[in-house]
Amino acid sequence: MEISYRLKNAAERRQQQFEPEGNVGFGKLRTDHMFVMDYRDGKWCDARIVPYGPFEMAPGAMCLHYGQAIFEGAKAFMHEDGEIYSFRLDQNAKRMNSSADIVCIPNIPEAWQVQAIEALIDVDRLWFPKQQGACLYIRPFMFATEDRLSVSPSQAYTFCVMLSPSGAYYGAGFGEAIRLLISKTFHRAVSGGTGASKAAGNYAASLRAGKAAAQFGAAQVLYLDATNTQIEEAGAMNHFHILKCGTVIIPTFTDTILQSITSRSIMELAPLLGCEVRQETVTLDKFIADIESGEIIEAGGFGTAAVVSPVGSYIFEDGHIITIGDGKVGKHIQRIYQLYTDIQLGKVKGPEGWVRPVPRSC
Ligand SMILES: *Cc1c(COP(=O)(O)O)cnc(C)c1O
Repeated sequence: MEISYRLKNAAERRQQQFEPEGNVGFGKLRTDHMFVMDYRDGKWCDARIVPYGPFEMAPGAMCLHYGQAIFEGAKAFMHEDGEIYSFRLDQNAKRMNSSADIVCIPNIPEAWQVQAIEALIDVDRLWFPKQQGACLYIRPFMFATEDRLSVSPSQAYTFCVMLSPSGAYYGAGFGEAIRLLISKTFHRAVSGGTGASKAAGNYAASLRAGKAAAQFGAAQVLYLDATNTQIEEAGAMNHFHILKCGTVIIPTFTDTILQSITSRSIMELAPLLGCEVRQETVTLDKFIADIESGEIIEAGGFGTAAVVSPVGSYIFEDGHIITIGDGKVGKHIQRIYQLYTDIQLGKVKGPEGWVRPVPRSC
């Protein structure tokens, strides 16, 4: 793929390593540039890196009306050698295409997606925050741009990548373990729907449930399947729990669960973690009984932003609260988090191909 560079002029462009004072937060900042590519006449064209700024779009652009839009989330890290390394971008590119299939958006070859991201990081590499545990959060997304009011797949799309220099998700150690609302009112996905896609509309649909969770003092919703018997996801994270023996259990992927790259990575890391990590159908009744009997000792969510979000308690819609273990962050979760972030930061060697240096153009 040929990329054209229309860069911000040197005077306006960041010329020195970004050295933020205090924490830069997560997802708030943007770098100088973005990658953009359009789809028209049946093909992806005009790959370019341009200054970060607004899009021009017709008011009739179909993404605004029918929500044909998807996104991804990935991270890149700086290692001791001063080079920036991306983490498992090939997996994000693959999932972008499977999300695209679910909402009828044309695929982009995985290699092009990775090339686009690497070229953008290379251009804006001085934006990498000089802070302990910092990263570049990478946000690729695609949306329908055709100006047409009939409900059918758009004939035109834009693919864009933007970067957000971000601080460590957890500053000094984990904060409090979070509480989840076990909701039998709200559902994230149904079989045959779009739950297995990072489709924009899924997140709009989750906001009302998130508000309800907040009213219960919970950080997020623990989503159940449509029959309210099986555990599916924890907000926008995969849910998991850990047994007394150390085994990690993640609900079996179905078409109502988004396949987390973090979850899949943890499964691959089982030998290094020295414990079993497996998937099975998790019923709510057994889950609650096993917490009460002490068979389940830790639980949480897996996702790129936080890697691991420890859960300390669950609240039902009748106000009943169940605490897991002593309600604090457990040692298995701390070990998983440590190994995962050590691999991302290049302190421990992970499986082949997980971290890749972002090539320098000169
Ligand atoms: C993005 C996302 C996850 C986490 O996936 P990662 O690849 O680990 O970031 C889990 N569940 C939902 C619903 C998501 O949108």
